[in-house]
Amino acid sequence: MASMPRILIVEDEEPLTLLLRYNLEAEGYAVDTSARGDDAELLLREAVPDLVLLDWMLPGLSGIELCRRLRQRPDTQRLPVIMLTARGEESERVRGLATGADDYIVKPFSVPELLARVRALLRRASPERVASVLEAGDIALDRETRRVRRSGRELHLGPTEFRMLEFLMEKPGRVFSRAQLLDGVWGMDSDIDERTVDVHVGRLRKAINRPRDKDPIRTVRGAGYSFDETFARRA
Ligand code: CA
Repeated sequence: MASMPRILIVEDEEPLTLLLRYNLEAEGYAVDTSARGDDAELLLREAVPDLVLLDWMLPGLSGIELCRRLRQRPDTQRLPVIMLTARGEESERVRGLATGADDYIVKPFSVPELLARVRALLRRASPERVASVLEAGDIALDRETRRVRRSGRELHLGPTEFRMLEFLMEKPGRVFSRAQLLDGVWGMDSDIDERTVDVHVGRLRKAINRPRDKDPIRTVRGAGYSFDETFARRA
């Protein structure tokens, strides 16, 4: 089994670094951080991660210059880099891509959107690292085609229900509070009411379960919800 992908965040805005670290670790990535471009360059000489999230404006050495230097080194030439740019830096954004970043995302961005980009880029870089199909019992969720099947029958899920099922299936057995589900499915900065989570769990259940089906979603009173990977074996 492949080890978890390692991601380096190079960002000097601490709240953003914390937000990214929290969400990436929740997705199962190993995360390192650096707040300066020059420090990041030193880190990258010691060990090459699987992906770098690179801020544009950094003390010590700019993100763009660091990216340019990485592309000149044989061991980091193909290292996946996502550039983080501020809104309105259109021309800089273009320069960012010209310097060899694989993707860019404009601040402020939604966390689910960033996570999707990270997954897509990692999959492109090393397809074996990120499973594209999550399976449990008779349920199969394909991240690539965004389709969910149960016993071969295609299920019709809304985008939020899809993301919620994907989130729960990534960590089977783990109980998530409503607040954690809000963070993971809608993004940490969303100001959606926690009761909305219950509404979407209800819709998700309705979409995946027919009357005689076993419900894989477990309600844990006073705690939240989890995906029970043993649902198929349950009496
Ligand atoms: Ca910055």
